[in-house]
Amino acid sequence: MNPQTFAANQVRSTPMSADLISIVNQCYQCGKCSAGCPVAPDMDLLPHQLVRLAVLGDVDRIIESKSIWLCLTCHTCGARCPNGIDVPGLLDPIRHSVLRDKRTMTDPKVAIFHKTFMDTVKYFGRVYELFLVGLYKFRTKTFTEDMELGLNMFRKGKLHLLPQKTGNLSEVKQVFKKSGIR
Ligand code: SF4
Ligand code: SF4
Repeated sequence: MNPQTFAANQVRSTPMSADLISIVNQCYQCGKCSAGCPVAPDMDLLPHQLVRLAVLGDVDRIIESKSIWLCLTCHTCGARCPNGIDVPGLLDPIRHSVLRDKRTMTDPKVAIFHKTFMDTVKYFGRVYELFLVGLYKFRTKTFTEDMELGLNMFRKGKLHLLPQKTGNLSEVKQVFKKSGIR
């Protein structure tokens, strides 16, 4: 896909995207985003490489990577970038288009996790870890994987038995409704 097609597709996906395209074109590959990214060690393409691919219009390689699903949307990259380039702002429209178009992914479990995470936020207004783990295990049929990690998280109080609801659940649901995410 050439840059013009990429730009056109992005503009269709989100009204912010025309600005986004001009912003990613300012990337000079300094790598500060990748140096601060907390999940960079697990990524197959680093944040600055994702930005470079976007500039080149190679969206297919971004879609084929695991990285687009591993990004936590923590915005550390955007805070560190001298040009204010926000990697999740670039990835979100692509992630949504992959889910919307039901495209085949290299590792379906990564996308299942992403979908389960979003479903949890939609139901509770925020992440409810125990529900997230249970639903993910059910959807992937990986009931015995990561048992020790789960027990450690439980012991450290990271998995609450009951959900902590947000006071603005109806507003969260409105956001999902308007975004068209199912
Ligand atoms: S920090 Fe910004 S300018 Fe540097 S490589 Fe990352 S996106 Fe490009
Ligand atoms: S928002 Fe995503 S790409 Fe940027 S630092 Fe956080 S995890 Fe890494």
